Amino acid sequence: MITCERQIKSDYLKTVIEKTEAKNIHEKEFIQALKEVLLSLEPVIIKNENEYKASALLERLVEPERVISFRVPWVDDKGQVQVNRGFRIQFNGAIGPYKGGLRFHPSVNQSIMKFLAFEQIFKNALTGLPIGGGKGGSDFDPKRKSDMEIMKFCQSFMNELQKHIGQDLDVPAGDIGVGGREIGYLFGQYRKIRNTYEAGVLTGKGLEYGGSLARKEATGYGLMYFMREMLKANNIQVEGKTAIISGSGNVAIYACEKAQEMGIKVLAMSDSSGCIYDKNGINLDAVKEIKEVKRGRIKEYLNYVPSAQYFENGINIPAIYSIKADIILPCATQNDIDLETAKILVSNGAMAVGEGANMPCTNEAVEYFIENKVLVAPGKAANAGGVATSALEMSQNSSRCSWTFEEVDKKLENIMVNIFKQCSESAKEYDFANNYVVGANIAAFKKISGAMIAQGII
Ligand code: NDP
Repeated sequence: MITCERQIKSDYLKTVIEKTEAKNIHEKEFIQALKEVLLSLEPVIIKNENEYKASALLERLVEPERVISFRVPWVDDKGQVQVNRGFRIQFNGAIGPYKGGLRFHPSVNQSIMKFLAFEQIFKNALTGLPIGGGKGGSDFDPKRKSDMEIMKFCQSFMNELQKHIGQDLDVPAGDIGVGGREIGYLFGQYRKIRNTYEAGVLTGKGLEYGGSLARKEATGYGLMYFMREMLKANNIQVEGKTAIISGSGNVAIYACEKAQEMGIKVLAMSDSSGCIYDKNGINLDAVKEIKEVKRGRIKEYLNYVPSAQYFENGINIPAIYSIKADIILPCATQNDIDLETAKILVSNGAMAVGEGANMPCTNEAVEYFIENKVLVAPGKAANAGGVATSALEMSQNSSRCSWTFEEVDKKLENIMVNIFKQCSESAKEYDFANNYVVGANIAAFKKISGAMIAQGII
């Protein structure tokens, strides 16, 4: 059995963590996410230990309501049959229909799906909207696939997924490798099989068929609204700061757009191969053309800005993290920043980290940042703007109306301001000062545990 690294005062908490680790011993990302949350909740657990123990609240919280795994066969352009594995984790529906993205990436496995779905429960609770936590995806790699192959894969994936989703049951959206194109193919297949126009069954749809303005921008914009609130609360001005952004996908691009609008100079962006460094500030139009239009590599930026530099990733630390900046925005994938990288960033004078991605920093890296007075905007709060706007898309679908870009953006901004407020107030209530990581977990847990207790032992 794997033991917990630090002293735990609550026997109940210790037992739950140990039992869950033993039961899911091969699921390291899930255990990492679970420990990050549960350990930070200890003060709340100690206060309510008897009540939680009596209803096995924590044991129920860490066990998904449903784990669905299925075969996805499809035929490639050469006529060969390919087989992938699909997942949907319906982790917790106490607050509302399961909601969470679909990830298509070769690294996808049950552990990654469960960690993402677990995080999603807390994130969705923080939005204040009635949505439960879920996640799904496949180990399918969309890179270097033709449009036809992407369509065939999406159709086969939906043939099975449609049995488990619905606008009042489970509403998937995009994530890594799943953008507007994939959502379109998935929606088309759902509509064909079900023979009904259920617009609210998927979010991130195109504007022509029920999508919401500002959904594409929402996660990145929301991250920067949260960052602005966090810096303001700590008497730091946003304008004039420098930033580096890992990734160059949906979240990274729109974080960059809002950061630049706020007067931040973005010096570097990356993809899984390496990073570009532009001392004059990133030309975002060039990045958008490379990534959104050509689906190319970030290296091609040098064709647009020859004075910029490109650094290939080494074996250990992603190249981008050796570039000095005030604000660090990891917007690519999980565990991008480990303790070693965190040490480099701190010694380079970083003052704030905003997690655009889900769990981009290891637990040790987060602890190191906080010990060294670097402000951390935790992913489950700071990147909640995407799912919040997805819920706004669902509202528009059910009332058959559509709001303007400005209306959606204003609602998003208010939601992010409110999420920051909840994180800040909960941290203060339990004497964690400006530790928003703990604040986010406590604020979300209070809501979820309240709903779970009220609904009885189910
Ligand atoms: P995209 O697929 O649009 O972009 C992902 C980016 O991250 C790409 O630049 C990709 O580079 C890079 N990347 C992916 N995997 C790796 C890896 N293993 N190592 C290094 N770089 C990698 O995804 P999103 O922008 O949608 O998502 C990014 C993160 O944000 C994810 O953690 C996701 O869960 C999270 N998130 C997304 C939301 C959304 O609304 N889209 C909402 C909330 C969170 P390459 O092209 O080379 O693979």
